[in-house]
Amino acid sequence: MSSSNASAPCIKLKQGRDGPIRKRHHPWIYSQAVDSVIPADSPDQLLPVQTADGAVIGWGEYSEGSLIAVRMVSFGAERPAPDWLDQRIREAKQLRDSLSIDSDAMRLVNAEGDFVPGLVADRYADTVVLSAHTRCIESSLDAVAESFAGIVPDVRVFVKRDEHFARVEKLVRPSEYLRGTGEGTAVITEGGVRMLVDFSHGQKTGFYLDQRMNRGIIARASAGKSVLNLFCYTGAVALRAVAAGATKVTSVDSSHRALEIAEESVLLNPSLGANAFEWIQGDVFSYLEEPGVYDVVVADPPPFARRRMELEGALKGYLSLFQQCLRNLSPGGFAFLFSCSGAVDRPLFQQVVSEAALKSGRRVRLIHELHADVDHPVAASHPEGEYLKGWMVHVH
Ligand code: SAH
Repeated sequence: MSSSNASAPCIKLKQGRDGPIRKRHHPWIYSQAVDSVIPADSPDQLLPVQTADGAVIGWGEYSEGSLIAVRMVSFGAERPAPDWLDQRIREAKQLRDSLSIDSDAMRLVNAEGDFVPGLVADRYADTVVLSAHTRCIESSLDAVAESFAGIVPDVRVFVKRDEHFARVEKLVRPSEYLRGTGEGTAVITEGGVRMLVDFSHGQKTGFYLDQRMNRGIIARASAGKSVLNLFCYTGAVALRAVAAGATKVTSVDSSHRALEIAEESVLLNPSLGANAFEWIQGDVFSYLEEPGVYDVVVADPPPFARRRMELEGALKGYLSLFQQCLRNLSPGGFAFLFSCSGAVDRPLFQQVVSEAALKSGRRVRLIHELHADVDHPVAASHPEGEYLKGWMVHVH
C-alpha cells in the first residue's frame, strides 16, 4: 500500500466505491464515484487512483467533466512504466500478427480491449488511422504515431476526429496526417476483393472492419443467390457476396457519398460483373414498403440506442425491421440480422430476433451467432466492450 502527499496529482474515490476496480478490474470509474481530484499539469499524465483511505489501487486516464471520469490503465499501486503506451501498442500489433487476418486492413488497437483506453487504431494498407476518445490519448497522439512508425515500415499516420467523442471529452484536434501525406483514402484488399476506403470523410475511421468475418459468412451463403443488402454503406458486403458468386445484390443506403465509393470499388475489381450490383440511395424503411423477394437478406443498421433511455424505441425499431426482413425471404432463405447498439445486450438481442421470427409468421431457425471479428478483442473485465451482435437465421 502506498499513499501520496496532499498536493500530488491524484484521484480520490468516495467511501465504498473502489470495489469494481479492486475486485473485478473494471476499467471505468464514473464521475459519481469520485470524491476529489488534484489534476496533473498535462492531460497525458496518468493519475493514481486512491481509496477513501488513501491506498493507491491503480492508475488511469482522467477526463474532467466526462461521465466516465477515469479509464484505468493499470491495477495496483505500482506506477505504469513511462513507455506503457508504446509497449501496449506493440503487444496489440503482435496479437494481430498472430491472428492470420485475410486482409491488409485491420483494427490494430481496440481501446479497452487492448488495454489502451481511448485509442482506436485501424490499418488501411499503408496508412494507420487513429481515433482518440479521451483527452489523455488526444494529447499523446504524436507519441502514438511514433510508436507505429517503429513497428510498421513506411507507415503513414492519419488522425481522424470523432465528433461524438470530441463533444463529450472536449477534444480539439482536427483530422490530419501526422506522418506522410496523401488524399485521405486507401485501397485495401479483403477476401481477395479490392475496396476503396475514404478515411478522411467516411463514417468512424472509414470502414466497418468489425464485420469482416461476417462478410465472409454472408458471402459463402450467397453463391448463386439474390441478396438484399440493407444499410450497405460502401458496399463491402455486396462486393464480397458477388465475388463469392451471388447472382444479384441490391444494396440500400441513405448516404450518397457511401454509394459513390461503393461504385468506385466495383471498378477496382474488373472480374466482378458490374451488372450484378444494384445501388439504391434512399431510406431503408421506405424501401421495405415494397421490397420484393430475395434468397438472402442482410440488415446492419446504425445504432438505434446508444443510451439506456433510448432502449424502448430501439427495440421497436429492430422488431419491425427484422420482421420485414424475414417476410421478404424466399423459402429456404437466410437472414443476417445485426445490432451495434451498446445498450442492447446479447440476450436482449436474441429476444428481439425471436420475437420478430414469431411475428413474421415464418418458421425460423437460429443457425449461427455472429460477433465482431478477431481483431476487436474485448477485455474479460469489460463486457461493455462488446457491441456488435448478430444472428444468421434460416427461414422456411
Ligand atoms: N454493413 C456495412 C456497415 C453499415 S453502417 C458494412 O459492412 O460496411 C450503417 C449504414 O446505414 C450507414 O452507411 C448509414 O449511411 C446507413 N443508414 C442509416 N440510416 C439509414 C436509413 N434510414 N436508410 C438507409 N440507410 C441508412
